Amino acid sequence: MIRKILLSILLIVLVVTGIVIFNTLRFSKEITRKPASDLPNLPDSAISHMQQAIRIKTIGLGNGEPVDTAQYLAFWQFVEKNYPLLHQSLTHQTFNGLSRLYKWEGKHPEQKPYVLMAHYDVVPVEASTENLWTVPAYGGVLKNDTIYGRGAADDKVSLISILEAVEKLLSQQFQPERTIYLSFGNDEETIGKGAQAIAKYMEDNKIHPEVILDEGGEITTENFTELKRPVALIAVAEKGYMSFNLTVELHGGHSSTPAPETAIDILAKGLVHLREKQMPYQFQPVIKELLNRVGPGMPFSERMAIANPWLFEKSLVSGLEKDHSSNALIHTTIVPTIVQTGIKDNVIPSLATAVVNTRILPGTTVEEVEAFMNKQINDPRVKITKNSPPDRVGPAASYESVAYKKVEDATYKVMKDVIPVPFLSVGATDSKYLQHLADGTIKFTPSVDAKGFHGIDERIGVSDLKRLIFFYQIIIQDAGK
Ligand SMILES: [Zn+2]
Repeated sequence: MIRKILLSILLIVLVVTGIVIFNTLRFSKEITRKPASDLPNLPDSAISHMQQAIRIKTIGLGNGEPVDTAQYLAFWQFVEKNYPLLHQSLTHQTFNGLSRLYKWEGKHPEQKPYVLMAHYDVVPVEASTENLWTVPAYGGVLKNDTIYGRGAADDKVSLISILEAVEKLLSQQFQPERTIYLSFGNDEETIGKGAQAIAKYMEDNKIHPEVILDEGGEITTENFTELKRPVALIAVAEKGYMSFNLTVELHGGHSSTPAPETAIDILAKGLVHLREKQMPYQFQPVIKELLNRVGPGMPFSERMAIANPWLFEKSLVSGLEKDHSSNALIHTTIVPTIVQTGIKDNVIPSLATAVVNTRILPGTTVEEVEAFMNKQINDPRVKITKNSPPDRVGPAASYESVAYKKVEDATYKVMKDVIPVPFLSVGATDSKYLQHLADGTIKFTPSVDAKGFHGIDERIGVSDLKRLIFFYQIIIQDAGK
C-alpha cells in the first residue's frame, strides 16, 4: 500500500516537472529584433530651445495657490517667436486661460485625428533640496551632453520635441494625412483644468481621435538587466488617483497635564496601522502580457516561473513586491503625504489631520480603497473623507489597438534592439481626461532612464531630445497610413 502511494507521488512529481520544463522550453526564443534608423542630426536650435524653455518658470503650486501667469504667457511668446512656421500654418485656441490646442489640418479631415499631448507646467523645487542641485534648478544648463533643469524630463522635452518635429516637417512642405492636434496643458501637475476644458471642447465638437499620445512610460535599461536590451514601457493603462483627508478631533489642553491619548496619538496609530498591510495584489492582464513578452529572454529560473504561472504565481508576486516600483504594478498603493497639527510646543492640539494619497489599480473602485482604509485603521475617531470627487476614467488602450501598434513601430525605429512591452503607468496624466473620446490612448515617451522627475538634478540627455523629435516626426508622418 505504502509503496503504491509513494509510486503515485513520484508519478505526480514527474508529470509536474515534465509540464514545467516543457512550458519553459517552449517559452524560450529570441525576442524579435527590428532594424532601427540612425537618429537624424538635431536642428542647431533645438538644444537652445530646450534651455530657454526650462528658464521660463512655469511653476504650478497646487492647493489653489495662484501661479505667476506672466511666466506662462512668456512661454507662449517664446513658442510663437521660435516656431514661426508652426505659428503661421496651425490654428490654435486657448483653454483655461493658459492651455493651448493647436490644429494642423490633414489632407483627409474626415478621418479620425491624432492628438499629441504634453504639459509645460512644472512642479516646484522643494526649498530643502535647492542646495542639493549641482546646477541652478531653472538654469537650463548643458553639461556632458545633458540638459539640466526643472521640467527637463517632465514634460518640457515632450513639448519641445513635438514643436521641433512639426516645425521641421513644415519646413519640408509636409502636410499630414490626418488632422493632428497638439494639446498642451498648463496645470497637469496640479488640477488638470486645461486638459478638462480641451476634453469638453472635443466632446462638444464630436472629435474622436484614433490615437492620443501623452507622457507616461519610457525606455529602461536599468530594470531588466538580465535581458541586456532596452525595454520600452508603452503604457496602455494608468492607475487612478485619489487623496483622502484623515481628521481626528479630540479635546486638547495644556501639555503639562496630558490625557492618556491625544489627537496626535490617535492619528499616528491610525497611520501606522494603515501602512502595516497592502491591499491584495492583482495581476492586471497588461502586466501578464508584459511578463510574457520579456519572459523568453530571462534566465532559466525566471523564465520557468513566468511560463508556469499556475505553479509559481506566489513567487512571481513576492519577486515583484521586493522592489517598490514593481510592487506598485500589482498593488493599489496608499501612503500619507501631508500631516498637519499643533501650533505651540506647550499646547496639545485638538485637531490632527493627514492627507493620504492613493494610486488605484484599474478595476478597483475608490469605495473599495476607502473601505480598506477604514478596516485597517479600525478607529471611528479617525474620520476619512475624499479630497475630491473621483475622476471618471475610461480604459486607455488595448495592446492590440492601432494606437499601440503605431507607437510600437515608431519605437522600433528610434531605438536599436529595443523590446517594446505594454505597461501600466503608475502616475496620472492629463490624457486621462481625453481618453474616453479616443480609440486608443498611449502614455509613453522614448526617453531612456531619465533622471530627477519631481526631484533633484532633473535632466534629459541630448540623445533623448534627438530621439523624441524623430519619434514624433515618425508618428506624424505615419498617421493615416
Ligand atoms: Zn508630467
